[in-house]
Amino acid sequence: MTPEAKPFWDGLREGKLRLPRCGACGHVFFYPRILCPKCQTRDIGWIDASGKGKLHAFEISYQTFNRAWKIPPPYVLAMIELAEGPRMMSNLINVAPDPKSIRCDMPVEVVFTKVSDDVTLPLFQPEGAR
Ligand SMILES: [Zn+2]
Repeated sequence: MTPEAKPFWDGLREGKLRLPRCGACGHVFFYPRILCPKCQTRDIGWIDASGKGKLHAFEISYQTFNRAWKIPPPYVLAMIELAEGPRMMSNLINVAPDPKSIRCDMPVEVVFTKVSDDVTLPLFQPEGAR
């Protein structure tokens, strides 16, 4: 975890998905950086994102590449395109890990998933799933 990403992780613990936004040009981006990737200024603020987006791309994974990871395979690696614009790598949960149940551009929403006292991850599920 880097200092510039601290508001992001703090927000997740509070159940908020925060995204960095450039105060100079208004560009919303992810991951958190010290400089705006568009205009290179350091005037970075934060917005509370809606937590909504759509599935841009996905891959069903049958291997656990990280032992710390608590979701048993198979699971769905997902590239989420947030309503605010940025894309975020995550996991799609609460859905069968089956290409028949998952399609690109399906609407998704964030699920705040606590993995330790310090870390809450923003995972995603099909909108309205439970
Ligand atoms: Zn900018």
